[in-house]
Parts: sequence; structure tokens; C-alpha cells
Amino acid sequence: MARTVLVTGGNRGIGLAIAQAFAKNGDRVAVTHRGSGAPEGLFGVECDVTDSDAIDAAFTKVEEELGPVEVLVANAGITDDTLIMRMKEEQFERVIDANLGGAWRCAKRATPKMVRAKFGRMIFISSVTGLYGNPGQTNYAASKAGLVGLARSLTREIGKRNITANVVAPGFVETDMTAELPEKTRGEYEKAVPLARFAQPEEVADAVTWLASDASGYISGAVIPVDGGLGMGH
Ligand code: NDP
Repeated sequence: MARTVLVTGGNRGIGLAIAQAFAKNGDRVAVTHRGSGAPEGLFGVECDVTDSDAIDAAFTKVEEELGPVEVLVANAGITDDTLIMRMKEEQFERVIDANLGGAWRCAKRATPKMVRAKFGRMIFISSVTGLYGNPGQTNYAASKAGLVGLARSLTREIGKRNITANVVAPGFVETDMTAELPEKTRGEYEKAVPLARFAQPEEVADAVTWLASDASGYISGAVIPVDGGLGMGH
């Protein structure tokens, strides 16, 4: 059955691969962007996830055009890495606000319509870093770990309404975010991954579309790693 899907940060990277995978399944897909416009074939809404009014306006547009959001993929995220002794409070707050605050705001806006429909799927894009930790990423790791608490509390709060909330925790994925890594660091990371390579964004998208499908209807509050074995046991 075709669903209405909203992917935040779906204009590029992992979000775009997720949006395209849903579109390929025949779903009605909307993506948020911050002024870049929508990729070809996808319905775009301009939205910064740090701004609740912008989120409200974006959801309203999606509802008018495609119907109430049945599947929310909270994917938008940023990094601002540095060691804690150098990290400014503003860097911590900015990353938490975008990655965790943004996901919470979207979940809050999506919930009433999902409750009314007695159906909903929320998928939060976390990171292996949120579970495993990483030097230089105290802000990012805390924001990504927070998504686990968010999904699990949502599961306990609204699970009985047939709404599931799950987390996907990718390892290293080939996108703009990892393209910034120095060659030496990238080589070290590749060596640390048991599967000895970075993921393609489509490999994350496969886990996300499965979590939104009927096949995973009894899975909620779970953390699904897509990390080539990097975080095993975390
Ligand atoms: P990119 O840097 O390629 O893309 C980030 C996306 O998030 C862009 O669409 C960007 O929009 C959007 N975004 C950032 N801040 C905001 C905001 N305040 N409001 C709305 N949109 C925003 O990242 P990836 O595709 O690599 O990452 C996607 C998600 O996956 C992130 O949450 C990231 O933390 C996570 N992840 C990535 C990994 C990787 O190795 N790449 C590994 C583990 C997790 P814009 O184009 O306007 O900047």
C-alpha cells in the first residue's frame, strides 16, 4: 500500500537515497531542503528543522499535496567536530539542536495525525558514533544517542496506536559528510570496519524502507546497525 513519506534532509546524501527508495516502491514522497530545491521527481518543501514554525508549514504543505505523513524519516543532521577542550558551548548546542531537537520537533508535529490514523512509522537516522563514541564528536555522539531515548519513549507512549519508532545507526557512508575526511583518517576508518569498506547510501535506505514496511510491523524501539560490523555489541 502506497504511503505518504517525509524525509528531512532528503535533498542529498543518505536522505536522498532513502527518498528515492520509497519513490521506487510507489510511495508518495516529500523531502525537506534548505533552499536548494527538490531533487527531480520528488516533492520538496523548504524547512530548517531548528525552526518549529518552518516544520509546521512544511508538514501542512505535504498534507495538502500528498496527505498526512504516515512515515517520518528524521535524517537531517550536521557535524561540528573538535576535542572537548576546544569545543565551544555554541558548537555543542548547534549540533544538539539540529540533530536531536530537529528530530523531536518533527516527531511532535507528525504524532497527532498518526494517532488519528492509528498508523505511523518513525525512523530516526542516528550513527554508530552515538553508541560507540568517537573522540572529537562529544556533541554529535550525544545528539545521536539521544535519538535512541526518543524512539524508545515514543514506542512506550504511542506504540498502542500502531505507531512504531525505530533507529537506524549507520557506520561510515559515502556522502558529502565523509568526503570531508582526510585521506589518512579515511584509510584508518576503513581498516577498523570488519567489512573493510564504507557503505553506499542505498544500503542505509534498504534498512529504512524495510522498517517502514508491513514486514517489520512488530519491531519498535530497536536500533538497527548498518555499519559493516563496526559497532558490534554496542
Ligand atoms: P550530508 O551532509 O550529505 O547531508 C545532510 C542533510 O541534512 C542535508 O540534506 C542537509 O540540508 C540536511 N540538514 C542539515 N541541517 C539541517 C537543518 N537544520 N534543517 C534541515 N535540514 C538540515 O549528510 P549525510 O547524508 O551523510 O547524513 C545524513 C544523516 O545520516 C545525518 O543525520 C548524519 O548524521 C547521519 N549519518 C551519516 C553518516 C555518514 O557516514 N555519512 C554515518 C552515520 C550517520 P542542506 O543540503 O540544506 O545542507
